[in-house]
Amino acid sequence: MSALEALKKDLDGLQIEDNPQIVKQKSRDFFWYSPVLKGQLDHVTGDLVVTPKSEAELIQVLKACYAHDIPVTTRGTGTGNYGQAMPLAGGVVLSMTAMDRVKEIRPGVVVAEAGAIVSKIDEATRAHSGQELRLHPSTARTATIGGFIAGGSGGVGSINWGGLRDLGNVIRLRVLTMEAEPKVLEMTGEDLHKVMHAYGTNGIITEVEMPLTAAYDWVDVLVGFDDFMDAAVFGDALGNQDGLLVKEIAPIAAPLPHDYFLRHQKFIRKDQSVVVCMVAPFAMDAFAAFTRRFKAAEMLYRSDMASEADLKSLPPAYELAWNHTTLRGLRVDPSITYLQVLYPFPTQIEGVRRMTELLGDEVPGHLEFVRFDGKITCFGLPIVRYTTEERLNEIIRLHEDNGCPIFNPHRYTLEEGGMKQTDAVQLAFKREADPKGLLNPGKMIAWENPDFDFSSNKLFLFPGLHRD
Ligand code: FAD
Repeated sequence: MSALEALKKDLDGLQIEDNPQIVKQKSRDFFWYSPVLKGQLDHVTGDLVVTPKSEAELIQVLKACYAHDIPVTTRGTGTGNYGQAMPLAGGVVLSMTAMDRVKEIRPGVVVAEAGAIVSKIDEATRAHSGQELRLHPSTARTATIGGFIAGGSGGVGSINWGGLRDLGNVIRLRVLTMEAEPKVLEMTGEDLHKVMHAYGTNGIITEVEMPLTAAYDWVDVLVGFDDFMDAAVFGDALGNQDGLLVKEIAPIAAPLPHDYFLRHQKFIRKDQSVVVCMVAPFAMDAFAAFTRRFKAAEMLYRSDMASEADLKSLPPAYELAWNHTTLRGLRVDPSITYLQVLYPFPTQIEGVRRMTELLGDEVPGHLEFVRFDGKITCFGLPIVRYTTEERLNEIIRLHEDNGCPIFNPHRYTLEEGGMKQTDAVQLAFKREADPKGLLNPGKMIAWENPDFDFSSNKLFLFPGLHRD
């Protein structure tokens, strides 16, 4: 009997899917945003999808996979962008979607299972006591909270609260290890960094405890500018307004808003750059006064004055921002791709200006203002009018030479997409929690090849990237 057949026998009674077409579909994420990853990962598929309904069933899955040496790649809803949730060595795709209960809500705190959809958590906390999560990805309506913590970084709300990595933005995680007898760990404080943004390579998150803040019926606003740099300066100044409560500030360069935001197109001229904002309803008068200080600013749309028909047909503003800008672009022009840039404080505006002058319409700007290490600055998710991989690498080099670090979304490993160095804390925890290296193989270079030289500029190629 093969290991897989033995595994199926051990998991008799659990929800298992082995139809190859469905398994392949559940083995994919949004890796195809990157023409580079598309070439490398398009063939990747697991062998089985297992969907446990409880922690007890999940422990049964892990024990059986450990016994039969079968890799396990955890999956929320597969909205990650870098092949994070793709099973490079085959094996089990562990779907968390049936563990989706919101378990407890109290002042300032929610406890939920890791497979809960982010917007469902917000719905429950709003209905319970007018509270909402501090920050969410623009995929809130589809992504799981566990996937956000294991694979995401920040998003809508980060202008006030910073990113997931900031102490206090996650309170507690309940984590299972991948051992003969899986341990159940409750992690808090500094320990959280062992498993956060580790792509599920060193533990399975089963439950999260997250801080809450007051919920508002956020007003979606689009502000237009003839010049992208005016939009960037407006965004920066808005982020620094101490008394004006906003949840999202995203300047996006012309002609992207007009060309990509098809349902909002009637509000936007082709040559207009737009700042996408979410503003607390009680702050709208202050916001309008602030906007009038900028001669070049033109209020194009505000949802608190929109018609019933518009309110019904328009997506929420946050689904124009973060990686939804890229998604809307790909729907209009599948040949584009994108980058992830940090414009470091305090020279963020100069950084944006330099790159805009250097690259023009080959790399139209998209900024996301955030609080980062206590300062207001911006990330960029610029669109790249893609020609070749060589040119893409040249564009990356130009950013880095100009002091704007790139978090490369065209790499599937933690290190190459991130800080380009070993994360000793995550590696040490993997040694303890996944001694056989069965969790999401191929994503942590430090585990696969401890001698890998990050300064060599060579690509890491996972030898197990299996082809049928
Ligand atoms: P998946 O993609 O299924 O998984 C992500 C990673 O986490 C994988 O490595 C997976 O193995 C691991 N994982 C999943 N669940 C668990 C678990 N329970 N325990 C351990 N490991 C686990 N990201 C942002 O940070 N901010 C944004 O604003 C944002 N906007 C996006 C917009 C679009 C249109 C798209 C396509 C992506 C965007 N992303 C963003 C990326 C992604 O949507 C988020 O990170 C999302 O929260 C991932 O959730 P998921 O359930 O889809 O996770």
